[in-house]
Amino acid sequence: MEHPIISIQHVNKLFNTKRHKIQALQDINMEFGKGELVSIVGPSGCGKSTIIRLVDDIIKPTDGTITVDGITYDNNKPISKEMIRKLGFIFQVPNLYPWLTVKENVMLPLRIHGLSSPEYDENVQRLLKYVDMERYADAYPSELSGGMHQKIGVIRGMVHKPEMLMMDEPFGALDENTREMLNIELLHIWQETGMTIIFITHNVEEAVLLSQRVYVMASHPGRVVAELEVKFDRPRTLDLLADRTFGEYCTKIENLIGKIELKQIK
Ligand code: ADP
Ligand code: MG
Repeated sequence: MEHPIISIQHVNKLFNTKRHKIQALQDINMEFGKGELVSIVGPSGCGKSTIIRLVDDIIKPTDGTITVDGITYDNNKPISKEMIRKLGFIFQVPNLYPWLTVKENVMLPLRIHGLSSPEYDENVQRLLKYVDMERYADAYPSELSGGMHQKIGVIRGMVHKPEMLMMDEPFGALDENTREMLNIELLHIWQETGMTIIFITHNVEEAVLLSQRVYVMASHPGRVVAELEVKFDRPRTLDLLADRTFGEYCTKIENLIGKIELKQIK
């Protein structure tokens, strides 16, 4: 890849716990092009979350380099505020504040980043509309379903218009129908914004449906075992799920992860 916006080169991450050393990541090499939507799939414990924590500068690598938007991270100091603002992070558990309304929850990152302008107000409205939550803007989280919480978590992560979005199993806790609906909504938002998205999942179908490329990982130690391109036209729809080639992609990835490990994650 000529000019990746995110580049991870020869990254190792060791965790020293009281009892033992854990090689969470071993010689990870990954590149993400500007505007790409790339998934990372693999069994629980293979280091998926660790990778995006490194990109988000929550933790530092044991060795190796991480370069984002032309800046190579310094392993001795935190990344700049400017860089933090370019990054968005969406977690599996949305953790909304119960005493804030839907809209106030969504706007929280704007307060944190000190961003206020009509442009961002407009973005809040647009994102609420996108996930069909406009009429719940003044509702409180306790009045909403789990799927709605997840939608709020997703748009909250992109309200400050990050250039790069890291999504860590954001739909893992949802039923299949809700997940598929949100997958399609995510594709719409992605196409409209042109964001670079790293999407982490242990759901193989979800990875194939969404991504242009998929990194497949294995655990102990966490490592990349394959990288494949998913060649379907866009915009993609849920009709793809019934496509024969789609099934072949899924089978290929499942075989790479390995039957035994797959059983563990289902
Ligand atoms: P995944 O997201 O793929 O499930 P993680 O990145 O969370 O995997 O974890 C990878 C490995 O590193 C696991 O064995 C996990 O227990 C270990 N690990 C992650 N974070 C820490 C930590 N802060 N301290 C010790 N071990 C950790
Ligand atoms: Mg994880």
